[in-house]
Amino acid sequence: MRSEKKMIIFVQLLDLMQNPNTMKKLFLYLLLGTVAGFVSCTQKHRSNVSAWEKYDVGEIVFEDEAVGTKGSEIYHSLIPDPETYIADQARLVLATLYKSPKDSIQTVRRIRYTLEDKDGISAKGGGGGSVHIFYSSRYVESQYEPEQNAEKMLFETRGVLLHELTHAYQLEPQGIGTYGNNRVNWAFIEGMADAVRVACGGFEGPNARPRGGNYMDGYRTTGYFLVWLRDNKDPDFLWKFNKSALDVVPWSFNGAVKHILGNEYDIDALWHEYQLAVGDISE
Ligand SMILES: [Zn+2]
Repeated sequence: MRSEKKMIIFVQLLDLMQNPNTMKKLFLYLLLGTVAGFVSCTQKHRSNVSAWEKYDVGEIVFEDEAVGTKGSEIYHSLIPDPETYIADQARLVLATLYKSPKDSIQTVRRIRYTLEDKDGISAKGGGGGSVHIFYSSRYVESQYEPEQNAEKMLFETRGVLLHELTHAYQLEPQGIGTYGNNRVNWAFIEGMADAVRVACGGFEGPNARPRGGNYMDGYRTTGYFLVWLRDNKDPDFLWKFNKSALDVVPWSFNGAVKHILGNEYDIDALWHEYQLAVGDISE
């Protein structure tokens, strides 16, 4: 932990102590600090989060466009310093997507993160190094029950953020069309975003894993599979999979697993092995 970080936390703890309900907030803040980057989600899988401490994640601009709403109030009570919080999560995402800060990394100059009073959950837009992530204050409000699930709300907010930040920093498959018009590209992008969320503890345990399906389904179905490949085939699988977007052209799931694990591997055989291993099928 760097000393300026300690100072910021100290000042924020003092602020919290001025408030009623201090113990609860204090607990929440400690939880926040713990998940925010002092404990690495990827540590045991060789990624070195401390190597990213000085990495320029881009300028992070938080804008609350939902001032005065209940959702906004809840958000700020959970995340007192959004810009620092988002930057810390961005470093975790980078440490999961890349081996080292010296890799060919998707450049992000600026992330504008807005809390907005509209429907939906969260989405990433923009490109060319300037990213916009929207988060719905209505969603925050709808999910929140005071005194019952402040922790859950923080957990969910972090999970959604990990997914959207992955979109900001991940590589995109080449030679197969775009996210909008190619299903393989889409499955890679959305699968990787949830794989990072799984790897960083952003879902609530194995029960959050959908049963069955196919690696082409994207999101959690693909995400949990990619993390299983990391845990069972190659501890570096996630960053190698991200990097395969540059190395395997035209990109395909099968081309990527052969590139990473060896020619004897096949994506459908791996999916079948995975489905057996997690007990979704019996033969
Ligand atoms: Zn997504």
